[in-house]
Amino acid sequence: MEILKISKEDFNSFIDEKRTASAPLEGPGDSISGHAEKWKTIGVVKKGANFVFAELNSAAELCLDYDVTVLPPKKYFLPPKETLLKFIPKKAESYAAVNHPGPIALIGVHHYDLAAIHLMDRAFSEGERDEHYMKRRENSVLIGIYPTKHYKYRFSSSVIRGQFRKAADIMLVAMNGFFVVEILTEKGKNYLQGAELQENDFSLADIEAAANKIKDDQKIPLPIELVPEFLEKNHDHSAWDYFGGKCFSCASCVLVCPTCYCFDVRDEVDLTLEAGKRVRTWDSCMLEDFALTGEGFNFRAGRGARFRHRIYRKGKHLFEKYGYFGCVGCGRCAGSCTAGIAGPVKVLKYMLEHKQ
Ligand code: SF4
Ligand code: SF4
Repeated sequence: MEILKISKEDFNSFIDEKRTASAPLEGPGDSISGHAEKWKTIGVVKKGANFVFAELNSAAELCLDYDVTVLPPKKYFLPPKETLLKFIPKKAESYAAVNHPGPIALIGVHHYDLAAIHLMDRAFSEGERDEHYMKRRENSVLIGIYPTKHYKYRFSSSVIRGQFRKAADIMLVAMNGFFVVEILTEKGKNYLQGAELQENDFSLADIEAAANKIKDDQKIPLPIELVPEFLEKNHDHSAWDYFGGKCFSCASCVLVCPTCYCFDVRDEVDLTLEAGKRVRTWDSCMLEDFALTGEGFNFRAGRGARFRHRIYRKGKHLFEKYGYFGCVGCGRCAGSCTAGIAGPVKVLKYMLEHKQ
């Protein structure tokens, strides 16, 4: 691990150079075809009153002083809709995977979104490895940044630890016209070749203070290690009917969530019946037909059962499987829920206040 610094002007100039440069043939950018490709450079930009991840036309568009983006960056690794393979119907030998991701640099990813990417990396690499997701990840460089703006629904400090550093290649800390640059991987080091990096002269205590200067208003109201057992004991709590009765089943909470990665797969065949493709799309456990079986039985037909499942998945199932809380505390679900009920902090507080 190396700690250096770069002025914000030099950082922007470097990103502009990088946008039009080709990635090396080895490492990120080593495309399946063997030809070097241009970096696709994604960063946080302002859109109306909000912030979004978008492809940069110029580094001047970058806005790293932001509260939260509307959607997390997971869409670059698990697109809302993607073609997995193409085929000619009834010709088994024609099935061919579609998987040619080019090199991507993502700039300005907050630490909680990096923690979510680490969780997705594990979900898509352990057991049955998902080549589509993993190839995109291998061809990406992630440049993280610690939040510099408050977001009223965020509670990441009560649920994430250091796991975000396992996804990041580089972490930035904004300090007095500079970025302190912490290089975490060889991929990050290679990406920064040619940047006007300087020796760091900020003290580690000052860097630590700047990285943690934004405090959350909210936190999970019990130690997270106790949440799985707490949920287990409260399987029949009245909270599920209470929140289920208010829920619109719109699935906004799932769409904006960086740790929701369920998907559907189906085959689409042309009207000519001469060509087809297998397509993967995002799915949501908050939608009524998610748990509908081929026989017509729905094992989570009620809204309360679906609401409980989503909270169980974050606070129990993923936690037990990976050792990390399945929610990274971004607060997006709370901010996007029309009914004002989706945030795990609100749900757990309600359950504690209505002990049963
Ligand atoms: S909890 Fe809120 S955002 Fe989620 S499905 Fe229900 S109404 Fe929609
Ligand atoms: S459950 Fe809500 S707060 Fe937690 S990671 Fe998902 S969107 Fe963010």
